[in-house]
Amino acid sequence: MARLVMKFGGTSVADMDRIRNVARHVKREVDAGHDVAVVVSAMSGKTNELVAWCREASPLHDAREYDAVVSSGENVTAGLLAITLQGMGVQARSWQGWQLPMLTDNAHGSARILDLDGSELVKRFKERKEVAVIAGFQGVNKETNRITTLGRGGSDTSAVAVAAAIGAERCDIYTDVDGVYTTGPRVVPKARRMDKIAFEEMLELASLGAKVMPVRCDESEIMEQQVVTGIAFSKDEAQISIRRVEDKPGVAAAIFGPLAENNINVDMIVQNVSADGKTTDLTFTVPAADYERARATIEKAKGKIGFDRIDGATDVSKVSVIGIGMRSHAGVAAQAFGALSEKSINIRAITTSEIKFSVLIDAAYTELAVRTLHSLYGLDKA
Ligand code: ASP
Ligand code: MG
Repeated sequence: MARLVMKFGGTSVADMDRIRNVARHVKREVDAGHDVAVVVSAMSGKTNELVAWCREASPLHDAREYDAVVSSGENVTAGLLAITLQGMGVQARSWQGWQLPMLTDNAHGSARILDLDGSELVKRFKERKEVAVIAGFQGVNKETNRITTLGRGGSDTSAVAVAAAIGAERCDIYTDVDGVYTTGPRVVPKARRMDKIAFEEMLELASLGAKVMPVRCDESEIMEQQVVTGIAFSKDEAQISIRRVEDKPGVAAAIFGPLAENNINVDMIVQNVSADGKTTDLTFTVPAADYERARATIEKAKGKIGFDRIDGATDVSKVSVIGIGMRSHAGVAAQAFGALSEKSINIRAITTSEIKFSVLIDAAYTELAVRTLHSLYGLDKA
């Protein structure tokens, strides 16, 4: 008997026939004695339709209301699957993100998961063998009590988070691709399919733009010997540089405060050391979809911030290197910087965390950078 997460994408739940098919599949696992949490996407095409309606309602819409609208597709499929399972004699109930609750920050439209307590789900497995049918893609922010969404394609991230929270032995993500690769196989033909990956790494890969797929997530016996496990990349990034910002206390707050209030998710931040002690350049990235809004927000706060001008670029991409082995190995990022400079790829910004680092580069070099790093860390298949 195992505990597992089964994730079904939009095509798998596109109509009632397919939902019944999914339910049969879930029932098989339940009959085999397993505890099952199912995570579902919206019916295929549904989220696109909801996004288009928001744009039609207003091109510059309130991101909190956008989330209220676009999260709804998953409510439908979660409820329908629970009903179908019940009809087959399987104990099941649906869970929306706020009910779990899947706690996130308040970056509406691309929120990041902060915490998920799986104990209630586990209790229900034990007490009544109840299948949890979870609406993917959704979360809630505790401070504001508002619904959030995890970014397009985010239900894979939900599945991985649920798997980690309930301590699942397996996290099966059903799509038409056949595995989690060390990077995008279309970019790097030498990409290898991984047999195992840590939940944490999977979460990073999923949230950094990797299209994630059926896989066995395994936390306990992860190969610490392999320092880097995967490379992810995202072209949906934009860079904003504020030139000659007055170098005085409170400036960062004057810039990032209004952006946060407008729910614009700032990712990488680089502040140059000022040469004259009076002004400095400040660079950061935002999702490409928020680029215009971010520029307008900064322009509006110009009086308070005090700067010369804003430069920006949308033809940039973020390449990220992930691996829990980085915790115990120094110099992993430094190697990458060397390898990229050998290919004359300019690094515009860098961020690091315990198990990953990301570089911002010209979008034109994305494929070259990914291939270079893939070889550098020994990920190419023999
Ligand atoms: N329904 C959402 C989307 O289409 C989330 C997902 O499918 O992963 O982006
Ligand atoms: Mg998807």
